[in-house]
Formats: sequence, structure tokens, C-alpha cells
Amino acid sequence: MKDVYTLGDLQGWKEATADEEFPIRLGVLGDPVAQSLSPPMQNAGLEATGIGARYARFQISPNELEDALGLLRRLEFIGVNLTAPHKLAAFALVDEVEEQARKIGAINTIVFPDGRSLGYNTDGPGFLHAVHEQFSVDLRDLRVLLLGAGGGAGRALAWQCALENCERLVLVSRTFGKAQALVRELAGYFSGPRVLGPEARLEAVRWENTILRTQLARTDLVIHATPLGLNRTDPSPLPPALIAPHLMFYDLIPKKAPTRLLADAAAAGARGANGLTMLLHQGALAFELWFDHPAPLAAMRAALT
Ligand code: NAP
Repeated sequence: MKDVYTLGDLQGWKEATADEEFPIRLGVLGDPVAQSLSPPMQNAGLEATGIGARYARFQISPNELEDALGLLRRLEFIGVNLTAPHKLAAFALVDEVEEQARKIGAINTIVFPDGRSLGYNTDGPGFLHAVHEQFSVDLRDLRVLLLGAGGGAGRALAWQCALENCERLVLVSRTFGKAQALVRELAGYFSGPRVLGPEARLEAVRWENTILRTQLARTDLVIHATPLGLNRTDPSPLPPALIAPHLMFYDLIPKKAPTRLLADAAAAGARGANGLTMLLHQGALAFELWFDHPAPLAAMRAALT
């Protein structure tokens, strides 16, 4: 199997995959995609369950997405995952979207049953499992500050926090207007009876250190959902001086080596977790959508670690 396939490969799929032992019927579409850990994880799941199909990476640019999805459907793929930057655009390109994904406005999983395309979002539910596994706490009991609320993953996690009705949610986005718009969408979920004193249960704040310092004093869990940290030379999204030991950090970057943020959190005595557990659980939920069969979690986890 090639490390990465292209739209050109899909156009000549029979020739491109002539030497494969098992047919490639699943994959992840992204731009870039070479870094994706989904293929080893999903292929370990397919092998462990004896399913005679394989999962591959597809380098697809935004202007190729519609053609790629049409081809995948015609080639009778079982389904695909979508990674950045396709989660919002793919939403508009599928036949039907499941209810939670419709609210979020983004999908990360497609199932192709009988020539149709159905969109789902397993990022939020996967994150819910990951937080419980990593910190032995439930999202609904936490005061959450979300850095990077404007992206596809950030939106999905903000919605999950709202659906769980977490104690408090503070949305931070480089583009402030995106966080403000999301607050308007989620306001109805935070108007309930929980009372925390005078502070708002849901608000958008500007990405400025003085504001963040005040907010972090009233936060339990910091979620980091920007791409900062994918490259080793990336700066941290938060200055170390703002990190207090009472905080928990969930950094979505799915890497074993600690990001600057997680290294700074550890140095400050705060608990931290990388995005591998979310990758595992969102992938397991996608597997279950494709096969209507419990995902072999242990095999998929072993492939990631
Ligand atoms: P996305 O849709 O491209 O969104 C990225 C967001 O990050 C945008 O809102 C952008 O802000 C913001 N951003 C980018 N560079 C920034 C910077 N230098 N400073 C501040 N904000 C910045 O990407 P995504 O799909 O949401 O993915 C985001 C990250 O989550 C990626 O690293 C991805 O690998 C990770 N992720 C992990 C999992 C997992 O299972 N572990 C799942 C999904 C995503 P603007 O809106 O202002 O442009």
C-alpha cells in the first residue's frame, strides 16, 4: 500500500491498487494527510476483526474534495474519515447528516450505504470518552476553557460541552467573531438552573493574556484545538506563566512526544493528556458506524502506542 494516494490514483483505482492483497475500501482525506495516524490504527482494527479490507491516506485539496467523494462512492468504498481542512466543506457534500453533526455543521466520518453518503461527527463523543479515560472525570462536571473554538474540531468539542451541559464554557478563538457566533448558537444550552455566582456560564473572550489569566483562575480543563504543536518548532498557545497546577490540559495534537504546551503544563505540576486517546475513541466510533460491530479497542490502541 502506498503511504499516500491522490485524486489521480482514485481516477485509475484499479491500476493504482492492482498489487494489493486486500481491497482498500476505507481511508482518510486531508490536506496535508501524510502525518495521519488513522491508517495504522484502523488497519489494526480491520486485521483484529478479520475484515478483508484496508484503510489508506488520501491527499485531497479543497478544490478536489467533491470529485474525490463522488469517486469514492462509485468505487463502493465503505466509508471515510475527514481531517483538516475538509470537515466543514464535506458537510455540504453528503446526502444526509446525522442530528448532532448537523448542529455542529462539520463531519469527520462518512458512511456510503447503498450508493448514498451519510455524514457523522465522532470527534465530540470520542473526546468525551478520552477525558473520562485520561482524568477520571466527566465533562459535565467541569469548567472548560477552549482554545481554538473556531476550527472544525473546536466547534465539535464546544457542542459536546454544551450537550453535556458542562458547568461553564469559555470560548477563545484567534478570530474573535467565530467564538462570538458560537456563543450565540450554544446559548440555549447554558440557560438552565446551574448557578455559579455572578459569572456567565458561557462566554467568548479575546485571546489576550490578561483576559486568559482571569479566566484560567476559574477553569478546570483547558482544551487546546489549534494546530500549534503539530511541528516541533511551533510555539505554545499559552505562555508558561499562565499555567497553574490546578488545571487539566487536553491537547488535541495526537502525538506521543509532549508538545510545548504539555511540557509547560508538566513543569508547572498540572495534569496533561495528548490527543491520541481522542484519536482512538473517535476512530473506534467511526469503525462501529462502518461495520455495526464493536471496535477492537485494544488492537487499535496498541497500533497507536
Ligand atoms: P481547522 O478546522 O483548520 O481549525 C484550526 C483552528 O485553529 C482555526 O480556528 C484557526 O483559527 C486556529 N488556529 C490556527 N493557527 C492558529 C494560531 N497560530 N493561533 C491561534 N489559532 C490558530 O483544524 P481542526 O480540524 O479543527 O484541527 C485542529 C487541531 O486539532 C489539529 O491539530 C488536529 O490535528 C487536531 N485534531 C485532533 C483530533 C484527535 O482525534 N486528536 C481530532 C481532530 C482534530 P482561525 O479560525 O482564526 O483561522
